[in-house]
Amino acid sequence: MTTQYSMLIGGRLVQAGATLDVLNPATEEVIAKAPDAGSKELEMAVTAARKAFKGWSATPIAERQALLKQAGDVLSANVQELAALLTSEQGKPLAAAVAEVQAGIGWFYFHSQASLPVLVSEDSDTRRVETHHVPLGVVCAISPWNFPVMLSVWKLTPALVTGNTLVLKPSPFTPLTVLKIGELLKDVFPAGVLNIITGGDGLGPLMTSHAGFDKISFTGSTATGRRVMESAAKSLKRVTLELGGNDAAIVLPDVDVAAVAERIFMGAFYNTAQVCTATKRLYIHESIYDQLRDHLAGIAKALKVGDGSEADTILGPIQNRLQYQRVNKLIEDAKANHLTLIEGREVPKGRGYFIPVTLVDNPPDDARVVTEEAFGPVLPLLKYKTIDEAIERANASEYGLAGAVWGSNVAEALAVAARMETGTVWINENLYLPPMAPFAGHKQSGVGVENGQDGLQEYTNAKTYYIPKK
Ligand code: NAD
Repeated sequence: MTTQYSMLIGGRLVQAGATLDVLNPATEEVIAKAPDAGSKELEMAVTAARKAFKGWSATPIAERQALLKQAGDVLSANVQELAALLTSEQGKPLAAAVAEVQAGIGWFYFHSQASLPVLVSEDSDTRRVETHHVPLGVVCAISPWNFPVMLSVWKLTPALVTGNTLVLKPSPFTPLTVLKIGELLKDVFPAGVLNIITGGDGLGPLMTSHAGFDKISFTGSTATGRRVMESAAKSLKRVTLELGGNDAAIVLPDVDVAAVAERIFMGAFYNTAQVCTATKRLYIHESIYDQLRDHLAGIAKALKVGDGSEADTILGPIQNRLQYQRVNKLIEDAKANHLTLIEGREVPKGRGYFIPVTLVDNPPDDARVVTEEAFGPVLPLLKYKTIDEAIERANASEYGLAGAVWGSNVAEALAVAARMETGTVWINENLYLPPMAPFAGHKQSGVGVENGQDGLQEYTNAKTYYIPKK
């Protein structure tokens, strides 16, 4: 029997008139059904969230923080169950699913201690001027399928601690773990504070154009982000957009190749390269190019791509058929243009959206594998001569999400990092994103900030009081 999951609306577990099939990308089998909500269920969720806003925004922050901690505790007691479900719908190896669920829980704990200070800009004999941060109202949160738990929680916890109520929609490809979280947290928050709904392609646009929302926090592709912003403009909703990236990493000539190759590899291929901040273009100095390429090829030949529920799997399948076809098209395009491809270990044949790790050996800068965000296990290795040239080529992108610099001299690496046009730059590491550090996409990788105090502020309006003194 297929398990049927429920939405959380107004403190109750609710079905919709229709359902969506949810597949395991490693087997292509239907593993469960999720509600396929439309206008009626959206209306119920927005009404519940609006009703709850009055009480929740007036609840002292210490109480809101305490409930976030309680929610973190409830989820902590269910990590294994949530992780197994995440692997079955998303495809990632179980250890990575556990890591994602635990990271998400970390956000509950982080925000259980977070608040925005009151800014005193004047305290003179005549007056005191104080700026407080007040909640916006009802937040519409929309998340993608690569990190369904983490990227949903990034919105949930800052929205709630600042006193907003929320309607959250995960991707129709990966709705189950987030629905399960809703079920587990049903009785933690007052009814209507946290609402979780799921539906097909039509639901997102219905949400972003709904007048009952005060803010949209969206993570997904740049193309969809543009539509979200257009839709939000009608009622001037606040928006935070975390969008695509085509991140470059620059490997400096003084690097210890053997010491960093594996970390560079995982920075590109972790989560089967379905990471917004993954290295998607790797610029390697010509003096170490062959050596690093061969190391990376050796890693690709050794590691297992397979079903995430099998113990020795390092990389799982692509999450859905559409993306699988898109990545395969990029590889076909590379072949048609006679680029040199280095393939990793064989992947399971037959069912499942498996693609072998594919390195592209020094393609031209205008190749599609270089200019487009692959969001799959295809990585162009690009040879450079001078640092200036590498930086110029790395910055030649409409995106500006993140980047990395690898080198033995940290001061030199930092000087290169300073010239990269991205919101995040790692030096000799990759993908580390803690809750206290602001994460912002530059250029067309986003609008606004998530995480840290800056991210918290995005869920509030500034309100300044001018208080007279005698
Ligand atoms: P997507 O844009 O197709 O979908 C994201 C979400 O938006 C899903 O929940 C989807 O149902 C919903 N949606 C689709 N059309 C919509 C519309 N017109 N209005 C409102 N909502 C709509 O993205 P995806 O394929 O799920 O995710 C992959 C993309 O997300 C990649 O480009 C990746 O780089 C990006 N991403 C960015 C970040 C970041 O933090 N910057 C993180 C993860 C993924």
